[in-house]
Amino acid sequence: MPCKVRNFLWRAYKNIIPTLNNLKHRCVVEDSKCSLCAQHDEDVIHALWSCPAFVQVWNEDPQWSFRGQNIFPVFSHLIIHVFELGCSAELFAMQIWTIWFRRNKVRSAPLGFPLNLIAQRAYEALVEYRAAQPRHSLAAPTTRQRARWIPPPPNWNKANFYAAIFDEVGRAGLRVIICDSQGLAMVALT
Ligand SMILES: [Zn+2]
Repeated sequence: MPCKVRNFLWRAYKNIIPTLNNLKHRCVVEDSKCSLCAQHDEDVIHALWSCPAFVQVWNEDPQWSFRGQNIFPVFSHLIIHVFELGCSAELFAMQIWTIWFRRNKVRSAPLGFPLNLIAQRAYEALVEYRAAQPRHSLAAPTTRQRARWIPPPPNWNKANFYAAIFDEVGRAGLRVIICDSQGLAMVALT
């Protein structure tokens, strides 16, 4: 996974990302209530996993279905559980990074992308990253829900595209990634 994502996973594990709860302990802010649900303190586990606003985000893939059954007091317990279950740790890391990225983007500019695009964006970002790695496995992230990406035959190119409509801001987005038979991304348009 990208270094920034790996680094973020480590910082979340160590509870050193600037959640409102951590900032409150450092007397930077007074209110640590989550801005999405306005019910709970925004600590790491809440900000990335258990906030009720993320139901759809984590329901996108059945490998996260334990979210509705297990309660994790701290984020490090959740990471250990993800590894013990054999879930896609890379996809998990990419997803929490996207959640955090969106959270910071919304705080600085209210027109961030909608919550229901987080899972798709995380998946696409991981596929794109892997496609750009010449020595990495060409396989798409292991999920039980999505199809495995297969490179085209020699002398062929494959174009994968993803489109989204943002009703709130009246805009649409399109991302196209064209890969050769080695899985190398030749063109990535957004
Ligand atoms: Zn919340």
